[in-house]
Amino acid sequence: MDLTALAPDYVRAIAPYQPGKPIGELAREMGLAEASIVKLASNENPLGLPPKARAALEAAVADLARYPDGNGFALKDRIAERFAVGHDTIVLGNGSNDILELVARTFLQAGDSAVYSEYAFAVYPLAIQSVGGQRIEVKAREYGHDLDAMLAAIRPDTKLVFVANPNNPTGTLLKPGALLEFLEQVPERVLVVLDEAYTEYLPSEVASDSIGWLTRFPNLIVSRTFSKAYGLAGLRVGFALAHREVAGLVNRLRQPFNVNSLAQAAAAAALDDMDFLARSVALNRQGMAQLTGAFQRLGLPYIPSWGNFVTFHVADAKALNAHLLRNGVIVRPLAPYNMPNSLRVSIGLPEENARFIEVLEAALG
Ligand SMILES: *Cc1c(COP(=O)(O)O)cnc(C)c1O
Repeated sequence: MDLTALAPDYVRAIAPYQPGKPIGELAREMGLAEASIVKLASNENPLGLPPKARAALEAAVADLARYPDGNGFALKDRIAERFAVGHDTIVLGNGSNDILELVARTFLQAGDSAVYSEYAFAVYPLAIQSVGGQRIEVKAREYGHDLDAMLAAIRPDTKLVFVANPNNPTGTLLKPGALLEFLEQVPERVLVVLDEAYTEYLPSEVASDSIGWLTRFPNLIVSRTFSKAYGLAGLRVGFALAHREVAGLVNRLRQPFNVNSLAQAAAAAALDDMDFLARSVALNRQGMAQLTGAFQRLGLPYIPSWGNFVTFHVADAKALNAHLLRNGVIVRPLAPYNMPNSLRVSIGLPEENARFIEVLEAALG
């Protein structure tokens, strides 16, 4: 018998998430030395671990035989202090992916709908579909969220709207005024998940005061991650801030030990490593100029980005990607996002960016 038939149709219809190719996998496939491979495919921090997080990890190893603190008290304390919020407004996640899924599981049931944008982060449709929710995908405007169309797409059965700001994989940004106007118009009965995975990279003049907005909009959920600017992608830790009743409910669905003790210790320390964060942001600005300068020189169109990555367009992305892989450079093909002739490259160290540019140029020339 077909055992998969035991699963609901909406589960069987899920398209698997396609992560960036791991370095070890490419090394095996191409017979390359791992050290020769440049991975610019998953928007990781090229500086590696923050030094303060490394020290905290080393100290936390001593307690690994014990379960983690299921309430994440020390980490929540640091988050509460940094963002001036109460402990009871915080939900910790095993990466912010966990947060996105938890919110879907908490609020959606089969038949409810959720709104998100075309070209938005691939985890939104996955999270919605995994609980049998109906996906309402709204056409993008110039690769970014069309907030008016998203508002208009809200139906009586809509419970959630996902907004990525900046968006991944397109790097587009919604300015604070536009976002605020949107929040003012979303019905109170609809929750808005504002996914700010790249917010640390934004210059202050374009950053939204999203956490400040939480007191005004009880239906707002702000999601953040330690995977990008904080350099802890491998540890899996993110968090959400929301109205205490919303946070309390999501916390009931959370596995009691969803964030492991190493992740909690490292994240708390990373929040205090302001020097590392500043270096990461500066390096990103410099790398962005290096990559976009090369795209301009090579006549390749790209989408101006506010994140730690850039999406660019080529005549044949599949062939170019294959060429890059053969030469040990991993970027992210965007065919799964319905952008078959676009590739997304993460900003790396200056020498990694240079290697990517060199291989790219050889491929085009
Ligand atoms: C990378 C990313 C995340 C973070 O994922 P984690 O699970 O925290 O590693 C969330 N949202 C967007 C839009 C992202 O690009």
